[in-house]
Amino acid sequence: MIQAKKLSKKYGNLQVLNNVDLSVKAKEIVAITGPSGAGKTTLLNILGTLDTADDQPNTALQIDGVDLFSLKGKALARFRNQQLGFVFQSHQLLPEFSAIENVCIPAMIAKTPMKKAQKEGMELLSFLGLSNRADHKPAMLSGGEQQRVAVARALINKPKLLLADEPSGNLDSKTAAQLHELFLSLRDNFDQTIVLVTHNKELAALGDRSLQLVDGQWS
Ligand code: ADP
Repeated sequence: MIQAKKLSKKYGNLQVLNNVDLSVKAKEIVAITGPSGAGKTTLLNILGTLDTADDQPNTALQIDGVDLFSLKGKALARFRNQQLGFVFQSHQLLPEFSAIENVCIPAMIAKTPMKKAQKEGMELLSFLGLSNRADHKPAMLSGGEQQRVAVARALINKPKLLLADEPSGNLDSKTAAQLHELFLSLRDNFDQTIVLVTHNKELAALGDRSLQLVDGQWS
């Protein structure tokens, strides 16, 4: 699913990533751990095309067979919208929209007909145990519920790859454990490939593999 070769990133004189390789198979759950400042978010953002690796010889990034460095502009935005799902530490739901409306936003961007998007959005909310919260705005939902809405939003376009950055970072331990179970069930129910950055040892251990990044390199 992911074939990344020699990803490097420098901010000024700071070498944040240093020739990082990463291979992830379809339906694999890979956890990236490591100390703060190790480059985890930078790596995840590059995998998610939210940031770019430094242009240097032999650098390559393929996701599901697509060479991401060859995609630009609208084609890249389309790939991101349709093939990648994102869950961040802070849910980043739009406060003025209801749960179901938030879930449907990526589908609207993908020009999915409204009725189809709403039907699929409701199915996802129901799978996540939130069917009776669909019309609530984010401020009326608990932290765990908000994060599950964010997961539904990440999944609405049936992305090949789900990228999560500290998804349970703002949750209490019981709610975090529930979210972690949810990630496992996404793989089992939707054949989802998941790469997640986490400080949470239990979440890292739940995955198939846990990799540690230190000073921009695997340790
Ligand atoms: P982690 O996720 O492991 O905590 P990050 O990838 O967020 O690490 O950051 C790695 C290092 O890169 C940090 O020292 C951070 O300050 C620096 N950094 C991240 N983004 C930028 C940026 N846009 N400009 C300058 N420095 C950055």
